[in-house]
Amino acid sequence: MIYFVGAGPGDPDLITIKGRKAIEEADMIIYAGSLVSEDHLNYKKDSCVCYNSAKMHLEEVLDLMIEGDRKGLNIVRLHTGDPSIYGAIKEQMDPLEALGIDFEVIPGVSSFVAAAASIKKEFTLPGVSQTVILTRIKGRTDVPETENLESLASHGASMALFLSVGHMEKVLDALKRGYGRDDVPIAVVYRASWADEKRIIGTLKDIGQKVKDENIIKQAQILVGDFIHTDYDQSKLYDKYFTTEYRKGLKK
Ligand code: SAH
Repeated sequence: MIYFVGAGPGDPDLITIKGRKAIEEADMIIYAGSLVSEDHLNYKKDSCVCYNSAKMHLEEVLDLMIEGDRKGLNIVRLHTGDPSIYGAIKEQMDPLEALGIDFEVIPGVSSFVAAAASIKKEFTLPGVSQTVILTRIKGRTDVPETENLESLASHGASMALFLSVGHMEKVLDALKRGYGRDDVPIAVVYRASWADEKRIIGTLKDIGQKVKDENIIKQAQILVGDFIHTDYDQSKLYDKYFTTEYRKGLKK
């Protein structure tokens, strides 16, 4: 059986119990070495063989999985964060499916939620934003024109930008145009949940210099929106006058 497993953002304890069990039972692990902690491999069997996919291309990864599956091995393909977000798993799953090879996907803690946890903020504040936009700026890889950063920012929603910190100036220009102001709060979280994690908080106006000073050019989340600072309304969920499925609200 092949398991695509979300390893979580970095800290090896941020994997699911199901993901950890899959590692413990694996005969072969192919892990994305650029952003997956090698500490996950401390939980493997002694006989388990490991490959770092950062040094491999797609066909090599597929050949390993197909060959291993033919031998009846338990295989873990370990991806950073959650595999469904910029994980390039579809191009691995489709050929397996075409060959009738069975596989399962075990989700993981994505780095955008790890970054929010690290700065201790809530994306969805009542009266501020009820939407989170996950996106990236166009770099070497294209982004559909209808999803350009300026137009997404014009919604004023909370945003998490992957794969974009290397283009900080372009990002800030697009965000300023989209939000229509430069005092929007923004946080850059480098290697959320790793021991060398860094957090920088500022506004669209001043964060560029701070990120330059820290020399952060990769492996960071950019979180943007008023959820980082603004006053907000309290939720209805825990409002004592609000009736929910589980609790009857008090009379005012
Ligand atoms: N599937 C992953 C994303 C892979 S794309 C997930 O769900 O998180 C790689 C990008 O994710 C990086 O360029 C960076 O923007 C972000 N990223 C991954 N791990 C991170 C971490 N620990 N801290 C901050 N950003 C991270």
